Amino acid sequence: MKAKPRVLLESRYRKLERGLPQTIHFCPACGGRRRQRQKCTVCEGRGRISEDSVQQLLSRRILPAFDARKCKFHGAGREDVDVLMLGRGRPFVFEVEEPKVEDVDLEALRAKIHAEVGERVQLTEPFRRVQRRRVGEIKEAHWSKHYRIGVAVESALPADAAERLAAREFLVRQRTPERVAHRRADMVRTRQIRILAVRVPGPDHPLELDIETSHGTYVKEWVSGDGGRSEPSLAEMLGTPASCERLDVLEILDVTPPR
Ligand SMILES: [Zn+2]
Repeated sequence: MKAKPRVLLESRYRKLERGLPQTIHFCPACGGRRRQRQKCTVCEGRGRISEDSVQQLLSRRILPAFDARKCKFHGAGREDVDVLMLGRGRPFVFEVEEPKVEDVDLEALRAKIHAEVGERVQLTEPFRRVQRRRVGEIKEAHWSKHYRIGVAVESALPADAAERLAAREFLVRQRTPERVAHRRADMVRTRQIRILAVRVPGPDHPLELDIETSHGTYVKEWVSGDGGRSEPSLAEMLGTPASCERLDVLEILDVTPPR
């Protein structure tokens, strides 16, 4: 059987709006299926949980250009829905299935995306046509990241909190968080965190941290401790219950090939 034609486009996306998922979130109750969704009370017939996603904002512009109807979105991981993706953006490969047109001006397409939805999603690199193996490469690569965390704390911070945290580098043992346990194996992993900057902006925002983490660190869980599943936690280091109020990915660092 002959493989169906497809075009694979690589770039990096910035996500500038909280609440926007990376890919289409079908309704968990009806699965988005046409028959069932009409009577669905969870999504009220829409079939999906959020109106838009990064994938859809792109596909509504990319698919018409290629005269295609279906696509797949392959991200180098994904940020939580409520997390912004800043810096140079997250690498991804957009797969156009069965294009009827192949000769597309990719820079004009990127300009159209920016003109129409540039306040929500931006592509920081020109589209490159890539081979299938790039999908596996970006999905399996281990990317370190820089995050900015707005921390909420329950009681007043110790006066020396900022000094206590400044420039610290340490290992964190993290058991798979309960919120993802339904789709990830329950295991304990060790991850590295380095504190890059500490700010104490004022009473409304008691603490803001910039950190560098190794691949796959659960940042929200490191902040709270996740009921003892993540240790040491920021809450433990501060001596007060703490939670992640706001989170942005500042940068996904380039992969350094293993030596
Ligand atoms: Zn539904």
